[in-house]
Amino acid sequence: MPELVFFSGTMDCGKSTLALQIEHNRSARGLAGMIFTRDDRAGEGKLSSRLGLVTDAVEVEDGTDLYAYLVDHLSRGGRADYVIADEAQFLAPEQIDQLARVVDDLDLDVYAFGITTDFRSKLFPGSQRLVELADRVEVLQVEALCWCGARATHNARTVGGVMVVEGAQVVVGDVTHSSDEIGYEVLCRRHHRRRMTAASARAAALSPDVLPMSNA
Ligand SMILES: [Zn+2]
Repeated sequence: MPELVFFSGTMDCGKSTLALQIEHNRSARGLAGMIFTRDDRAGEGKLSSRLGLVTDAVEVEDGTDLYAYLVDHLSRGGRADYVIADEAQFLAPEQIDQLARVVDDLDLDVYAFGITTDFRSKLFPGSQRLVELADRVEVLQVEALCWCGARATHNARTVGGVMVVEGAQVVVGDVTHSSDEIGYEVLCRRHHRRRMTAASARAAALSPDVLPMSNA
């Protein structure tokens, strides 16, 4: 039976690397995949991993109907033996419904990869819909680590190096000036709650308050 599988995790947990591995294993067996992505770090129409691998993909837009796209592709004689949807947290809930329909009506496996929660530790709407609809949810086992060494379970957003908990849910790509540059960092829940990033932990460690008393 074809399945809708949601591979979920934090940033840096190897989702895109696994997506590329699944694609490689199946194409090595002569299978053709339809690969969707949205806002990949490598740019439009790319699925890339932090390890440097990259493959071409179909860039999903706001109004893209993923089911219709596949039906159209197949009706033109195109092949698709399975579907990969990377950065699935950025898909709209109705696009997740379309992926479920691909499984049920086109009999294709769909492997969706996404971050579960945003920098405020709230579910992305696309990820919420995947949790609701998926046949299986797999939490990725390549664990990202917080700076303290604990398992990183939360995504933090930083602006100019300082962790923030308010702002638009999705901010991707280059940001204007270095002083308010937006960055992301994975943290354990304890340090996410305390808003303590690697940089602020370093700064705290270097502050005179906590340095050992000098004997001089
Ligand atoms: Zn930590």
